[in-house]
Amino acid sequence: MQVYADNAATTKMSSTAVQAMLYGMEKVYGNPSSLHTVGQQAAEAMQAARQKIASCIGATANEITFTSGGSEADNQAILSAAAIGARKGKKHIVSTAFEHHAVLHTLDQLKKQGYEVELLPVGPIGTVTAQQVEDAIREDTCLVSVMYANNEVGSILPIGEIGAVCRRHGVLFHTDAVQAAGHLAIQVEEQNIDLLSLSAHKFHGPKGIGVLYARKGIPLVSLIQGGAQERHKRAGTENLPAILGMAAALEEACDHLEENAAKVSRLRDQLVEGLSRIPHSALNGDPVHRLPGNVSFCFEGIEGESLLLLLDSKGICASSGSACTSGSLDPSHVLLALGRPHEVAHGSLRLSLCAENTEAEVEYLLKEIPAVVEYLRSISPMWKDLVRGKRQFVL
Ligand SMILES: *Cc1c(COP(=O)(O)O)cnc(C)c1O
Repeated sequence: MQVYADNAATTKMSSTAVQAMLYGMEKVYGNPSSLHTVGQQAAEAMQAARQKIASCIGATANEITFTSGGSEADNQAILSAAAIGARKGKKHIVSTAFEHHAVLHTLDQLKKQGYEVELLPVGPIGTVTAQQVEDAIREDTCLVSVMYANNEVGSILPIGEIGAVCRRHGVLFHTDAVQAAGHLAIQVEEQNIDLLSLSAHKFHGPKGIGVLYARKGIPLVSLIQGGAQERHKRAGTENLPAILGMAAALEEACDHLEENAAKVSRLRDQLVEGLSRIPHSALNGDPVHRLPGNVSFCFEGIEGESLLLLLDSKGICASSGSACTSGSLDPSHVLLALGRPHEVAHGSLRLSLCAENTEAEVEYLLKEIPAVVEYLRSISPMWKDLVRGKRQFVL
């Protein structure tokens, strides 16, 4: 059996999105900047896609800028807010310790330019409260950037409350909603969101395309210099097939948001319950406010990498931490931010489901994973030390 349970890393494109891309490649092949009919057909298709995406998040079409994905949108949002801050002499930024590297590394860059960055601790379940954010806001705060939902441990953060706090204090609020878009409701007005990033390949759209939503009146700095595309906010001929694929995928996801969430969270809960029976294991992330598809565990006494390889040999595609940190031997900054000790963070497993996963697949996972964990423990020196009392169990 082949089980793809790594939807937080990327998703399979939906056939609706594939069809929309094919239409873009075969039928509306013009350059949207061209003044002739073929170009204008492309421009119209692009405008319709922009409108579709705007409707899904409660924005207007003019507030949507197409980017090459979530990382670029995060970079542009943060650098734009920082530039606005600098003009007012405000160089303090509040964010969290478990943001995606697209946010954290951009903040590192700003630190080198004299900005002060405060990363809020996320506590053992991996969340921050609006109160924490409010306490951190100062006179010179120019930006609060807090992710909507965490990609590794699945916590959903109280974005609406945080948005309200930022609005009250007149501070720009950015949210990396890459894991939320297409999975959780987004309403930029109600939630007081000023800047928002999303990425198509996390909701069954194509890779290499995303959106930066910027509230009307917020000037964006362009990361790429060139032509006047995207109203001077992102130079370069637009990737129209990908834009059409993204719009189709987002619309489809938003049309089925609730039924998909209900289905996927049922599967998630079965997995969480089953895997919790493994001794010396623990769920990572918020047990209540949790992405419908996210199952994240630490198993004491094993190495996540070996777990992944053995699971792969059984046809199970999962991840430890995020796809971006796998490959390096450093434990995930997210699990460390939750207070997991290094050796425990190393034994992590993330399963991320989508609406295409089935009960039968969950049964297969619940048969194979405990057996693989038991096998790895039987050959693990670390586990031997734990059992013999040479080392203390943490979980
Ligand atoms: C995947 C992801 C990103 C990066 O998006 P890309 O489109 O792959 O650049 C950013 N933030 C979060 C939370 C993500 O999960």
